[in-house]
Amino acid sequence: MTTPRLQIDLDKIKHNALTLVERLGAHGIAITGVTKAFPGYPGIADVWLEAGVGGLGDSRVENIEAMRRRGVATRISLIRSPMMSQVERVIAAADISFNTELDVIRKLSSAAGSAGRSHGVVLMVELGDLREGIMPDNLHESVREVLRLPNIQLKGIGTNLACRSGVAPDQNNMGKLSALADSIDAAFGTALEIVSGGNSASIKWALGGGSTGRINDLRLGESLLLGLEPLHRQPIDGLHGDAITLVAEVIEHKVKPTQPWGEIGQTAFGAKPPAVNRGHISQTILAIGCQDVDPDGLRAPVGTRIIGASSDHLVLDCGNRPMAVGAEVTFGLDYSALVRAMTSPFVDKVAMARKDVAERDELEPPRMRRC
Ligand SMILES: *Cc1c(COP(=O)(O)O)cnc(C)c1O
Repeated sequence: MTTPRLQIDLDKIKHNALTLVERLGAHGIAITGVTKAFPGYPGIADVWLEAGVGGLGDSRVENIEAMRRRGVATRISLIRSPMMSQVERVIAAADISFNTELDVIRKLSSAAGSAGRSHGVVLMVELGDLREGIMPDNLHESVREVLRLPNIQLKGIGTNLACRSGVAPDQNNMGKLSALADSIDAAFGTALEIVSGGNSASIKWALGGGSTGRINDLRLGESLLLGLEPLHRQPIDGLHGDAITLVAEVIEHKVKPTQPWGEIGQTAFGAKPPAVNRGHISQTILAIGCQDVDPDGLRAPVGTRIIGASSDHLVLDCGNRPMAVGAEVTFGLDYSALVRAMTSPFVDKVAMARKDVAERDELEPPRMRRC
C-alpha cells in the first residue's frame, strides 16, 4: 500500500455517527454533518447519511459543488457566509446558506430569482465568541428585511461558539438563542424550522441534562470524525478516537546525539533546538512533513516522541523500539492535522473496514490545542 496514507475506518466512522444521532436525537436535536475536513474524500458523507445524519454542511462552495457532481441529493448548507462574488454558485449548489449581511442576502434573492429557485437562509447570531453573527439587538431588524425578500425563505437562526474565542456553549447563551427564536416567531408569525446551536463544542451542553429549548440542530465535524469534544479535547464516551489514522514510512534510522553541533541559526520552521541534552537516542525519519500534515497535531505511538519536522521530514525519537527502514508507523491526528492531510495531494486516502485494519500500536492521548 502507498505511504503516506490516511487510513479511514468506515465502520468506526459509522459507529460514531450512529451513536451521536441517537444520543442527540433523544434530545430532539438533528445533526448536520460538516464535510469541510475531507473535500478529497467523499465516502465519509455517504456513511454519515446512512447513519441518519440529517443533512450536510460545508464552508466552501467548491466542496458543495463537488458533492453535487457526485450526485449527493441531500440537503446541503453553506455554513460560512457566502462571498458576494459567489452568490450565483451558492444558489446553484446549496439549499441553504448561513448569513449575517443583508447586502449578501439581497444578492442571493436576485440570483435565486434569475435561476428560478428558492433559497433558504439561516441568520447567524453573535453570542460572544466574536466571529460571525448579527448582534442580538439587531436581529429583528434583519429578520424583517429578509422576510420581505422574494425567493428567500427564512429557515431559522444559528450561532457559532468556541471557535475564535473559546466561549463555551452553556445554559445562558443557548437559552438566549432559544429565546430569540421564540421572540422572532412571536413578532413575525413565523415558525422557524432550524435553530442551530453550534458545532461539536455544543455536544457537552446538549447531553448535559438541562433543557435544550428550541435548539434542534448541531453542525458536527470533529466529534463525528475524531470522537472528541473540542472544548477540552476530551474523548466522547463510547466513540472511536482512531477512526482515521495516518501511516508514514521510515526512511532513516540511526543513533544520533540530541544536541546539534556548529553555530546555531534559525531552523527551517523557526523551532528552537532542544534545550536538554539527553545524550544519544534512536532517531527515526519518516517521509512526511509540514506540506502533508500539521506535525504538532499528530499523536505518536506510545514510547516514541516527535522531536522535529520540516517540509518533507518528520523526526521521531523512537525510544527503545526498533524501527527498520521501510517500516510503517501509525499516528493519531487532531483536527488541524487531519484537515491538512486530507487536503494534501501527497497523502493517499484509503478506506478500510475494521477487519482489514492491522493490529496497531497504542497512541498517545489527545492534547489540548485549538486550531
Ligand atoms: C467547521 C464548522 C463547524 C463544525 O465544527 P466542528 O468543531 O468540526 O464540529 C460548524 N459550524 C461552522 C460555522 C463551522 O465553520
